[in-house]
Amino acid sequence: MSKAEVISIRPAWQQELAKAIRDPILLGQQLDLPDDWIATHGRARELFPVMVTRHFVSLMERANIADPLLRQVMPAQDEYLDQAGFVTDPLAEQDNTTPSLLHKYRSRVLVILRGGCAINCRYCFRRHFPYNEHHFGRAQRQELLTYIQADPNINEVILSGGDPLLATDEQLFQLLAELEAIPQLKRVRIHSRLPVVLPERLTPALGERLGTSRLQALLVLHTNHPHEVAPQLHEALAPWAQAGVTLLNQSVLLRGVNDSAEVLADLSEALFAAKVMPYYLHQLDKVKGASHFAVTDAEALQIAERLRALLPGFLVPRLVREVAGEPSKTPLELTLN
Ligand code: SF4
Repeated sequence: MSKAEVISIRPAWQQELAKAIRDPILLGQQLDLPDDWIATHGRARELFPVMVTRHFVSLMERANIADPLLRQVMPAQDEYLDQAGFVTDPLAEQDNTTPSLLHKYRSRVLVILRGGCAINCRYCFRRHFPYNEHHFGRAQRQELLTYIQADPNINEVILSGGDPLLATDEQLFQLLAELEAIPQLKRVRIHSRLPVVLPERLTPALGERLGTSRLQALLVLHTNHPHEVAPQLHEALAPWAQAGVTLLNQSVLLRGVNDSAEVLADLSEALFAAKVMPYYLHQLDKVKGASHFAVTDAEALQIAERLRALLPGFLVPRLVREVAGEPSKTPLELTLN
């Protein structure tokens, strides 16, 4: 089989993913950004590689260095700042002794199903995570199933990453069948940013399979700005919603991206129009290299208060912080002294 034939039988989303932009110079050319600005900031790619899909770039405004989507993926000089409290492993995950499996919460296990992503978000709390030590192959899958069966408290499996939707439909079908065979399990949850950056990844077949599973299926998107909720995302989500998959969203509160109640209100409205319920608004995890995205707790609480005035209660995401070692997300007001 020729290389061209191999490429043509790969799913459309994988072909699109292969065209992702990994060079800040190319990103600058696509968006008509000033060469000197790209050269100054692009250097920080050495701290965390650049990766962004063509679809996500198409949602950015040309010639706008302050575009809120661009800010999430473009390296920045500020990533070299060494700010107190910003560390490589903010949630103390990297000493975990069970590869690919994080059991942070009593009833839920989180599986690092795939190490990579289709986008590298500069603020990512796992930007220093040693994914190469967390390969999820046949041995890890068996280890996961054994682990779950040995602990009757576990009733939910969260597929995370990296991005779990980088696994193929076939791989997910197989894992789902194995999870369905464990009677104590009630739910399977997928945390993914892929639908936002590569909407064609939401294949109707996978939505249908999840919707008809014995397990209740949830898809938790990660969107931060209303411009990310594009018509292509609406279209791709529709069959999943129709199949009965519960759709939620979590965002990260990011300076220069969505640190405004009006932007967040627009995001909630856009999500709900796509049948997605706003779920969490996270305070930034203090990861080294991302301090320029931080919003103070006082500002965050003010934004949340204004958001409650702008939206009906069911559209207001819960403002939370993840605290290493805590058994659940913590409402921000409870983390303040
Ligand atoms: S998609 Fe999620 S895991 Fe991947 S880089 Fe972005 S925030 Fe991190």
